[in-house]
Amino acid sequence: MSTTASTSVTPDTSQALDTARHHLAAAADRLGLPDAIRRRLMLPKEQITLQLHPVLPCGKSLECTAYIIRHSDVLGPAKGGIRMSTRVSADSIAGLAMEMTWKTALIGVPFGGGKSGIACDPASLTPDEKELLIRAFARSAHRHIGPEVYVPAPDMGTGEEEMGYIRDCVSHSEGVSITRGCFVTGKPVILGGIHGRREATGKGVVHTLAAACRHLGMEISGLRVAVQGFGNVAAVAAQELYARGARIVAVADLTGGLYAEGGLDIPALQAHVRATRGLSGFAGANPINPEALFEQDCDAVIPAASGSQIHASNAGKIRARIVAEGANVPLTPEADAILNKAGVFIIPDILCNAGGVFVSYLEYAQETQREQMSLKEVEERLRERMETTFAEVLAYSIAHNLPMRAAAMDIAVGRVAEGIHARGAHP
Ligand code: NAD
Repeated sequence: MSTTASTSVTPDTSQALDTARHHLAAAADRLGLPDAIRRRLMLPKEQITLQLHPVLPCGKSLECTAYIIRHSDVLGPAKGGIRMSTRVSADSIAGLAMEMTWKTALIGVPFGGGKSGIACDPASLTPDEKELLIRAFARSAHRHIGPEVYVPAPDMGTGEEEMGYIRDCVSHSEGVSITRGCFVTGKPVILGGIHGRREATGKGVVHTLAAACRHLGMEISGLRVAVQGFGNVAAVAAQELYARGARIVAVADLTGGLYAEGGLDIPALQAHVRATRGLSGFAGANPINPEALFEQDCDAVIPAASGSQIHASNAGKIRARIVAEGANVPLTPEADAILNKAGVFIIPDILCNAGGVFVSYLEYAQETQREQMSLKEVEERLRERMETTFAEVLAYSIAHNLPMRAAAMDIAVGRVAEGIHARGAHP
């Protein structure tokens, strides 16, 4: 082994755990949860730290820390994506795992909540290095994942390809071609994945945004939208909105920011990003400072990048009527309070971006039954589930005079608490 390269890690500023605990405490107060249940839900059920150090053919070793956190398995095996980012920390992954518990309970799939993180900068890795790292993760994590324990999926920095490598590692270690049940979702269709999984989160975001528009007497056609991020969730949501006649007036991510009064040509922007790996330099739009994205004049903003992007300092500058949380935990509690006070309609993350985990559940079910669902069936079931869950949360929010996030949390936390009681673990 000639050299060792530690992958860089930046301080975690996401506050994901603090924010998740803040929202849980508020729901526990409203629901009058017993102290023992409240304390149990504040902490993850299991937290595993892995040290990965795969060796490249050139002799260089990559070193980084990874986490697997299961927050709750009361309603089923933990479900939640694998994040590759320099901002991964034990606390950020614990907060995101907790969010998954509420998301699966709310969208009505028989899963609990979990999350994994690999602390590295995926953009600095070659495809071979990334594959080596994800295979090292899969080998070390094998004991902790499985259809009855924890079922991972893509998240920031990972996608279909990486899920395929995990599927391959698992079947190698088990010495089988097809595994007993579903070990990972978001795989390529050829390896037992499901049609439409890659697009499911972004399309689900748009289903909830369309439902919010109907409720508020607004039209999707002509809606002026600002989108943060241009990865899996954001680019699909932007494309879907563009196809429905909305105007994506602004987009920003780590590579730059763009504004076009008449709306961006999203298919052309996608081609530009494929060719140049970034937003900047796109003709037909004016460059903007990515920090200024949320200040743009628009009807809806979709934060679909990383956590805590809307905070006390920029929340007051938002002029949109709707915030649709494509990302997980994109608002700090302070920003949430500012926007609620201003009468902004917030579609909370555990509802807005739940389309991905819903279609992951369909993948889990089809793999268990050795079937293949058609894209048409997946899309229809996704639309129907997003719309009925939105309607359920909206009805609760009106009946109890609560913002949508509080309504969604009360329904979700209430279901998990009911599960704890039904299992007989009374405090
Ligand atoms: P991705 O890695 O495909 O894309 C992330 C995008 O966000 C990139 O365009 C990146 O440049 C941008 N970004 C990252 N940090 C940023 C910052 N500080 N400022 C501006 N832009 C930034 O990730 P993704 O899968 O699209 O996930 C995006 C968000 O959606 C995450 O919060 C993730 O947890 C959440 N989410 C993803 C899924 C899924 O199915 N992929 C499901 C539910 C929720």
